[in-house]
Amino acid sequence: MRDETRLSHPSAPLSAVLLPVKRIMRKTLLCFSAVLAFLFATDFCQAQSDVQSHPACPLCGMDRQQYAHSRILLQYDDGSALGVCSIHCAAMELTLNRQKTVTQFSVGDYRTRELVDVKKAAWVIGGDRPGVMTSRAKWAFGRRSDAEGFAREHGGKISSFEEVMKAVFQDMYEDIKLIRQKRVKPSATMQDIKDHPECTYCGMNRQQYAFSRMLIRYRNDPAVGTCSIHCTSIDLALNTDKMLGVILVGDYKTKKLIDAERAVWVIGGKKTGVMSIQGKWAFEDRRDADAFIEENGGRISFFEEAMKATFEDIDELLR
Ligand SMILES: [Zn+2]
Ligand SMILES: [Zn+2]
Repeated sequence: MRDETRLSHPSAPLSAVLLPVKRIMRKTLLCFSAVLAFLFATDFCQAQSDVQSHPACPLCGMDRQQYAHSRILLQYDDGSALGVCSIHCAAMELTLNRQKTVTQFSVGDYRTRELVDVKKAAWVIGGDRPGVMTSRAKWAFGRRSDAEGFAREHGGKISSFEEVMKAVFQDMYEDIKLIRQKRVKPSATMQDIKDHPECTYCGMNRQQYAFSRMLIRYRNDPAVGTCSIHCTSIDLALNTDKMLGVILVGDYKTKKLIDAERAVWVIGGKKTGVMSIQGKWAFEDRRDADAFIEENGGRISFFEEAMKATFEDIDELLR
């Protein structure tokens, strides 16, 4: 509880951010034209180079090329730099390293992908485009007219950097949960279906059962693709000698592979299971699981219980 309060309190990290930025602003005013020309030149180069030198966000593992429109580059007075995916991971970093002084704080322009100073950017909070590492989006634009154009088309509120930081810390508790989930499943692609088109045990088409398919990753052995938790339980029972890495499952709703042990499982309900009468479905988001139950019945559960139910159901089928 104390941790939440500390993380969602904006004043300490915010001042850590704003003081150095103010200092830069003062310097900029002193030798206006020279510094401005310099900033333009470096901003332009950084648009190309910072993604190469910082390809992945160290906090959540996301690809910064893919999130060039929300990425952040932090430069510290000790000469070090840090590239993250979004203002959300930047806030996390600033909270973790309050003792360090930020000398330059820039963000990818949503439209042009070029790095711009966070204080000079026009920001939009919210709108209909899903945010990066957060449900409430925060986008930066080098030109105010671009921000206004975005807000007209997609909604959201034109905001200052101070307002954005406040919103970031307000949203942080929810976002920490998102980061935890992202960390365990960097690949949200259907690559596993291409690699394992059929269930190893029953031969069923894993594309067709993308909503229940599973992938068992072993540390020293090749991964095994299955159609469902049922065929997964068979694999696990047969290979107790193998070193288990991670067990992934297709999200019932989104079909993305997620960590089976962290997923919210629903057991039962009126939808017939795969390789089993009683359904066992996995969801990344608890709200999707609740919505499923409202429509189809069943009960909220977790992986261990779903595995237990699987073995009980197999036992019943064999009898
Ligand atoms: Zn990140
Ligand atoms: Zn199968």
